[in-house]
Amino acid sequence: MRGVVVVGGGMAGLSTAEALRSAGFDGTVTLVGEEPHRPYSRPPLSKELLTGKGTTRSLVLRDEPEFDALRLDLRLGRRAVRLRPAERAVELDDGALVRGDAVVIATGATARRPDTGLAGVHVLRTLDDAEAVREGLEAVDRVVVVGAGFIGAEVAASARTLGLDVTLVEAAPTPLTRVVDPRVGEVLTELHRDNGVDVRLGVGVTGFEGGNRVERVRLADGTAVAAPMVVAGLGVRLNTDWLAGSGVELADGVGGVRLDAYCATSVPGVYAAGDLANWPHPRYGGRVRLEHWTNAGEQAAAVAHNLLAGAGRRRPYTPVPYFWSDQYGMKVQLLGQAAPADTVEFVHGSPAERKFVAFFGRGGMLVGVLGLRSTPKVMRYRPLLTEPTTWEQALAAAGR
Ligand SMILES: Cc1cc2nc3c(=O)[nH]c(=O)nc-3n(C[C@H](O)[C@H](O)[C@H](O)COP(=O)(O)OP(=O)(O)OC[C@H]3O[C@@H](n4cnc5c(N)ncnc54)[C@H](O)[C@@H]3O)c2cc1C
Repeated sequence: MRGVVVVGGGMAGLSTAEALRSAGFDGTVTLVGEEPHRPYSRPPLSKELLTGKGTTRSLVLRDEPEFDALRLDLRLGRRAVRLRPAERAVELDDGALVRGDAVVIATGATARRPDTGLAGVHVLRTLDDAEAVREGLEAVDRVVVVGAGFIGAEVAASARTLGLDVTLVEAAPTPLTRVVDPRVGEVLTELHRDNGVDVRLGVGVTGFEGGNRVERVRLADGTAVAAPMVVAGLGVRLNTDWLAGSGVELADGVGGVRLDAYCATSVPGVYAAGDLANWPHPRYGGRVRLEHWTNAGEQAAAVAHNLLAGAGRRRPYTPVPYFWSDQYGMKVQLLGQAAPADTVEFVHGSPAERKFVAFFGRGGMLVGVLGLRSTPKVMRYRPLLTEPTTWEQALAAAGR
């Protein structure tokens, strides 16, 4: 193995490069990234960066000496447009071809944009997006957030922290339906109401109105909400277009690049990690895809190991998924999966206290632990998710 091409300069791409070097790989590591910035941290974009507690500089993932020590063949501001597996090459948008014995796909995702050209309607995925949102929030006294997923929820919380009037609109009857059982989704919604957000659930957006700039958001119930600014958190589109015709198989269902248990794609020598990776996880009864910061780093490390290891030394990737969110100074943490669940139990605290740990069960097994303002307790239960644990064993471990 003399060269590895990593496509995508986010957390998964940087972590792959780092893990290759940590494992002693001395060949060429090419890192191709469409954004002009050196790899930076996305989680603070909707939190510290909006509330002024963080700066663009504080987001940089590695300081200069550490980054330079990776000795990367760095191609920033360049987009991969095609994967040519027969040549083990990636074609860039300037026509250049970069070659390697292995290719790692880490191109993540792009925010879904609402269908409008009006100024003042934002999405939030990149540093440039976040700077535009921050500037926008400074210039208005109210904002409408469309979509009550985690990013929408965090933008709503940050805007309230700045003292703006906030309306949060969500088409589903409870927020976060895909990631959190509704019994907990409801509690997380109440946090917004506690903090003065006008939450509108079960009502979709039918359009954005205004001259050049947005002025109103029109809702499916016929009402309109005044909106000098809108931030849409409508989920993502995975960046897999450049793989068309390459033979790299994509996945049905939750989508993404279809991997085997070792994070290898259907094309030999081509691996994937991060938000677009879809792989079989033995503890969740099928394939999973995680849009989680920690997964991007851990999966990249698994990819680096497996692509350097000989056939007998490869390891299946079976992490305990971990996600956190910060809203109104409170931390939400999730280990494993919190939806779908057929059993939910609050094992410590309660929704009324706005402080709890909840267990999620499926088919008699523990599949997830979620905490609000309960960091040490949540993390204490991580070992229950590294091995199959029955619902009864889990409750016993919580003293129930
Ligand atoms: C605002 C925000 C807040 C978040 N908060 C949290 C949180 O609190 N907790 C948590 O667990 N997770 C959070 N996440 C999710 C987390 O940031 C992602 O899971 C993580 O960034 C995924 O990393 P990635 O490297 O797979 O993809 P990305 O971060 O999307 O990086 C992919 C990179 O590849 C580049 N790229 C795309 N296409 C091409 C191409 N064709 N050629 C070259 N380069 C390309 C992109 O420009 C991008 O820079 C948050 C995400 C956002 C946007």
